[in-house]
Amino acid sequence: MHRRITGQIVIATHNPGKLAEMRELLAPYGIEAVSAGELGLGEPDETGKTFQANARIKAVAAAQAAKLPAFADDSGLVVDALDGAPGIYSARWAGPSKDFGAAMARIERLLQERGATAPDQRKAHFVSALCVAWPDDHVEEVEARADGTLVWPPRGSAGFGYDPAFLPDGHTRTFGEMTSIEKHGLPPLGLGLSHRARAFVKLAEICLEPR
Ligand code: IMP
Repeated sequence: MHRRITGQIVIATHNPGKLAEMRELLAPYGIEAVSAGELGLGEPDETGKTFQANARIKAVAAAQAAKLPAFADDSGLVVDALDGAPGIYSARWAGPSKDFGAAMARIERLLQERGATAPDQRKAHFVSALCVAWPDDHVEEVEARADGTLVWPPRGSAGFGYDPAFLPDGHTRTFGEMTSIEKHGLPPLGLGLSHRARAFVKLAEICLEPR
């Protein structure tokens, strides 16, 4: 039996880019979202081996600490020619200074070393795993992906992380060249373009009611 989210929820992220996106996604549902940072909650170690496991670690820790339902995302970029790297290590590849220019350059260097210059050798996808955990240990989980190709040099300064290097399938502009409305492609304007929007549409179907 799926459980509905009502009232207040903690967004279990300390990443300002993701916090802003999650707030935007939750806004139409009348959910009051407070962030883990605002509540002064700590950040658990992401020791899971999958996106879903890490999302669950973050959501469960925040729900227990705040005694409120908590919503967490774990996401990353999976590059086919690099055997799935950086994957769950996507944030870590940017280092403590969160230098995604350097992380994108590292991916490009590895692709060049493998001779991956043609677009069909440069396929990648973003994954978003979402978990909502309640203080009584109930969880709801969904996962979705957005497929595309890596371009070089990166293009655009919108979004965050690896957005400027990611050209979603069927589009001529990278996520870094799109407004957030275009990037997410959410209903009623679209059917979900970004991995996070797609996962969110799935979560909304099982856990949220439009106002
Ligand atoms: P985590 O989920 O906080 O472990 O971090 C995931 C990392 O994947 C982020 O820091 C970004 O580098 C990358 N990432 C996830 N989603 C996106 C996105 O929508 N655009 C660009 N990069 C992303």
